[in-house]
Amino acid sequence: MRTKSKRRAAILGAVVFYAIATVVARRRGYAGMGGRTLVRCRAGHLFMTLWVPGVSIKSLRLGWRRAQYCPVGLHWTLVVPVRDSDVSDEERERAREYRDIALP
Ligand SMILES: [Zn+2]
Repeated sequence: MRTKSKRRAAILGAVVFYAIATVVARRRGYAGMGGRTLVRCRAGHLFMTLWVPGVSIKSLRLGWRRAQYCPVGLHWTLVVPVRDSDVSDEERERAREYRDIALP
C-alpha cells in the first residue's frame, strides 16, 4: 500500500514538472513547445517537429538540443528550438512543408 501511493506521488510529480516546463517554455517565446515546434538543425535547415519536453522516443535528448534526423537536408544532426520571432513568415511557411513523422 505504501509503495503504491509513493509511486503515484512520483508519477504525479513528473506530470506536474512537465506541465510547468511546458508553460515556462511557452512564456520564453517558444510557442509550439509541447507540440509542433519550429527547430533549426546545425546546417541551418528549418523544419517542424513534435517536441514534447521530457518525452522522446525517436531522438536522443541532449538537454535543450537533441539529435534528430533532418527531413530537409536528409541527414542526422543536432536540432534546437527556434523562437517564432526569430524567423520570417516566409521561412516559417517553408518549414511547415517539412514535418517529420508524428512521434514525440
Ligand atoms: Zn539539416
